[in-house]
Amino acid sequence: MKSDYDVIVVGSGPAGSSAAYAAASKDIKVAILEKDPHVATSIRTSGVTWIDDMKKFSIPENFYNKIKNYSFHSSNNKVLIKGNIPSAAVLDVRKTYTFLAKRAVDRGAHLFTNNNVTNVHLNKTQRLVNINKNKFTSKIVIDASGFRSVVARSLGLVKQWKIFGTGAEYESYAENIVPDTWSLMVGSKYSPSGYAWIFPVNKNVVRIGVGITRPYSTINPIDQLNKIIQNKTGPIKDLGKLNHIELHYGLIPNDGPVRNTVYDNILLVGDSAGYSNPLVLEGIRYAIKFGRIAGDVASKAIVERNISKSFLLEYEKQWQKLVYKKIISSYVIQKRWLKLSDGEWDKELNIIKNLTVYELVNFMKSDFGLIDMIKFIKKNPHFVVRNFFQVLHNTFSK
Ligand SMILES: Cc1cc2nc3c(=O)[nH]c(=O)nc-3n(C[C@H](O)[C@H](O)[C@H](O)COP(=O)(O)OP(=O)(O)OC[C@H]3O[C@@H](n4cnc5c(N)ncnc54)[C@H](O)[C@@H]3O)c2cc1C
Repeated sequence: MKSDYDVIVVGSGPAGSSAAYAAASKDIKVAILEKDPHVATSIRTSGVTWIDDMKKFSIPENFYNKIKNYSFHSSNNKVLIKGNIPSAAVLDVRKTYTFLAKRAVDRGAHLFTNNNVTNVHLNKTQRLVNINKNKFTSKIVIDASGFRSVVARSLGLVKQWKIFGTGAEYESYAENIVPDTWSLMVGSKYSPSGYAWIFPVNKNVVRIGVGITRPYSTINPIDQLNKIIQNKTGPIKDLGKLNHIELHYGLIPNDGPVRNTVYDNILLVGDSAGYSNPLVLEGIRYAIKFGRIAGDVASKAIVERNISKSFLLEYEKQWQKLVYKKIISSYVIQKRWLKLSDGEWDKELNIIKNLTVYELVNFMKSDFGLIDMIKFIKKNPHFVVRNFFQVLHNTFSK
């Protein structure tokens, strides 16, 4: 039996569910194909994001733990930046992703789980996309399959990412948790090229993880994670006794926004498009926001009977206008961070020490404006700080 749709979304992560939600809101036929038996069967993320974004997406407040203090640890330095009100959120990832998928289904999208998409091709007239040997057909396909970009790769449109993050994390019960404070750990004893983290989920549970950048390091993040937990490295010691509940593992593109995200009949969203915030490799809020834009543009294309690349390019124009420059600026900083020695990281924390919580949060979000930067440089005229922000300024003002 063949199932015909106007728009098929491959993948029920935050990008796919958000694209399907927006597309189905326009009264067209939308399906989501998910390879796993459930939405969020396996977790591939730490689920840290920002409260103001979650509010904009109407994610219920009881789906996340609120963070107001931010601690940073290097080999021989540490910094704690305290806030009065919480800005960051550690999501209950399963609850949030299921909520996003349900929202799409409530709008009329059909969700097919246990549907592994393995091959995709365009028919002779280039008007229909055939999925899994014609089992499904659709006029437009949104590739929301994450890191592997199964649709775009099956059609030969893209190749494997060259630079990417590989991360492993335990969700664990811990004896001593400060629920409103996160810890980021940098330097070789934590990660040879990347960082480690402790994100509190609530007063009893934390996520402890390690991210490593390929190809700069070939170390297995699970081995490195076990090592820092066994050695109780840095702030891990303060957590006391740990009992692991679940292991999370995943890959995230780190090539920067290098891909075309639109082709005839095809849109790439979320990690498949490769537009996460490179500073901390966070992609959930962009996946939701730009997933929605993609769904919206796709539904307009169906209604206006124009599924050409030139029509669909509206999606790429919109997301690029919102974040392209910010991503490029952060990418420059991140590339510099990847080369820092342990001693340089100790000094870098002194720069972070000078940030107010407002500056820190905007910096982590890659939301720094030129005016904020100029104010910051005036306030902190030291050479290192100037040098650091000069990198941003040069890229940002191009
Ligand atoms: C270790 C780690 C930690 C991270 N931590 C954070 C964080 O703290 N905050 C943050 O914002 N971001 C974080 N990220 C990044 C974030 O997880 C991604 O940017 C985000 O999940 C992208 O969403 P997505 O919907 O594009 O892809 P995904 O969430 O990967 O969803 C893709 C979906 O497609 C399905 N799929 C895949 N192949 C097929 C197929 N062949 N057929 C059908 N379905 C298929 C998958 O099963 C999955 O459901 C982290 C990433 C990693 C690896």
